[in-house]
Amino acid sequence: MQSNTEKTPRNNREIEPALTPASTLPPADPFSGRRVGRHMPTYSRPVKAAEIARQIGCNAMQIFAGNPTGWRPPADNLAASMAFATAARDLELDPVVIHAPYLINLASPDEFIWEKSIVLLSSMLQRGAQLGAKSVVFHTGSHRGTGVEAGLARIAEALTRILPETPPEVMVLLENDVGAGGSLGYSFEHLGTVLHLFPQYTTRLGICIDTAHLWGAGHDISSATSTLQVLQQCDDAFGLERLKVIHLNDTKMALGSHRDVHTRIGEGIIPEEGLCTLLRDPRLQHAAVLLETPIKTGAGDKEDWEHDAQQLQLAKKLMGL
Ligand SMILES: [Zn+2]
Ligand SMILES: [Zn+2]
Repeated sequence: MQSNTEKTPRNNREIEPALTPASTLPPADPFSGRRVGRHMPTYSRPVKAAEIARQIGCNAMQIFAGNPTGWRPPADNLAASMAFATAARDLELDPVVIHAPYLINLASPDEFIWEKSIVLLSSMLQRGAQLGAKSVVFHTGSHRGTGVEAGLARIAEALTRILPETPPEVMVLLENDVGAGGSLGYSFEHLGTVLHLFPQYTTRLGICIDTAHLWGAGHDISSATSTLQVLQQCDDAFGLERLKVIHLNDTKMALGSHRDVHTRIGEGIIPEEGLCTLLRDPRLQHAAVLLETPIKTGAGDKEDWEHDAQQLQLAKKLMGL
């Protein structure tokens, strides 16, 4: 997830419509058991965000549980958290996923930053439990020049402290990265190495794969053949059953650019063939698909939710729904 205020699409290519079902009756379950949604801004009104999510066609959602660019853990407000958890359950939004703040760097060699990162990620897991979230997604961070091995060891050390102290019902998901500078997580082996260090935590540690980050890191998801190869590499490194969330984003940045800029679905350069192959893979039907695309704004800078409902329709078409 990253923010992008770009609002002018450069590429309006159409996405192939899904095959028309034989019956003209609407299916009883329009999602065929799949979970699909988007990252929702809450503006401190998470219940409202959940209601909008459902209205625009989500049956899953992601939120920030505090300031995404600050160190301060969110102020405790159990009543508000429980109100959100109840609303999300009543609206059948499942899973709810929390995206952790960007400052967290469990790979940091800096003691001060590392300790603060542990405190902040732990607070996100505590808050996640109150919000009824299934998982907290975090970026694996940067080794800051100390090297991949040292960085991964640092992440493992941090998780050794975090996992036993946090609610067992909330998963910790490592998100793949575009691999700029000393960032880790651009290689599936990095993600797999961390998971394999915790065989006792298979139900608490998992993976989130972001399609724009795959592309930025140079993983070629342009064709069916190349995408199946990428999925095989994921399966070899960490096991596709451990992949719990797919962040579905397009991008205009070149393959392997190491740039993290999200673009709305159908407005970037990742070919539909690759995205369809990934999203329709039978081994990934359990994974929630969440958009982190820039939300179009209209008059008065208000969100154009109508447009976003169409983005969700496009996502569902790519998923074959
Ligand atoms: Zn993401
Ligand atoms: Zn992210």
